[in-house]
Amino acid sequence: MPDRVLRAIDAPTIDHRGPDFAALGHEVLAGMSEIFRTGGPVVIYPSSGTGAWEAALVNTLSPGDRVLAFETGHFATLWRAMAERLGLEVDWVEGDWRRGADPDRVAAVLRSDPSISAVMVVHNETSTGVTSRVAEIREAIDAAGSDALLLVDTISSLGSIDYRHDEWAVDVTVGCSQKGLMLPAGLGFNAVSENALAASERARLPRSYWDWGPTIEANRAGYWPYTSATNLLYGLREAIAMLREEGLENVFARHQRHAAATRAAVEAWGLEVLCADEREHSAALTAVMVENADEIRKLILERFDMSLGAGLGRLAGRVFRIGHLGDFNDLMLAGTLCGVEMGLRLTGVPVAGSGVEAALSLLEREPVAV
Ligand code: PLP
Repeated sequence: MPDRVLRAIDAPTIDHRGPDFAALGHEVLAGMSEIFRTGGPVVIYPSSGTGAWEAALVNTLSPGDRVLAFETGHFATLWRAMAERLGLEVDWVEGDWRRGADPDRVAAVLRSDPSISAVMVVHNETSTGVTSRVAEIREAIDAAGSDALLLVDTISSLGSIDYRHDEWAVDVTVGCSQKGLMLPAGLGFNAVSENALAASERARLPRSYWDWGPTIEANRAGYWPYTSATNLLYGLREAIAMLREEGLENVFARHQRHAAATRAAVEAWGLEVLCADEREHSAALTAVMVENADEIRKLILERFDMSLGAGLGRLAGRVFRIGHLGDFNDLMLAGTLCGVEMGLRLTGVPVAGSGVEAALSLLEREPVAV
């Protein structure tokens, strides 16, 4: 979270019904359209990402609707549980938490079951460091001749990994503030296609707070139908400015470069990255498989005050996760990898070679985008 964003948040809160607010509202809505790469509406909620997940489901679906979802990791599993609690029938494709949603499987299931109303995909599985191929999933839906809606969670990819809501014909893209947008938690997003808006006219799952309609209506004038998270919107305006200044393509290239350097380090240590498919390596984080993951994390936290991501769900204790997303540069990555390397050595993991050196030489070779 960059200082610039934190300083922007730290400004007097203006009246969310007053005349100055509308300019802020219009500005952040236009900026978020750029980031989602959409010409359609973006709904901003004062919520965490989980709220934005719920909004995507309750605005588009009805009780008993069948949806297709993939067990790509912990967050896909939680989204599925939410869908079931809401009364949807989930067609669940089991997985080993090392791969993304399989486009061939999408086509096969939709061909054999035309009653599926929506496909739910987590673009970047934060629990595994695996990025699903959303453009290919869209092609698979079209190839199957299905009119199922495509609902995509970009909670840990938005603003870090290439994403195109309109070009990939995604119907609802779910996002939140606390990852690539470099803000504290507290804002949730839905980018909404025309098909999704039409579906919201028919959808019968109960909705009130999450209803897109009143927000889209109030947004036309730059306002929200309830009290806005004004200071987070100041931060969002600043974060959008930072992403614009760097250029989204450069932001994505920076994340890819840091991810490649991290993987070079893991390889040099003689350890294994959890993601099993080269096409699906996450540019936002890298999960590393190791027996004593929690011991390593504990030591690194206590000795170096650096917090690595824990293994979640069925990966508990078996991986640690290195985050390299958001406001991050070469020196931060070098420091991070030094901390991990020292932690590995101090906990007696037999390290094959210096991951830090491997990462630094990749960073030297790979030019920085300008
Ligand atoms: N989806 C993904 C991919 C996530 O990484 C997270 C949180 O880390 C969530 C959903 C849930 O978001 P939140 O914790 O903001 O409710």
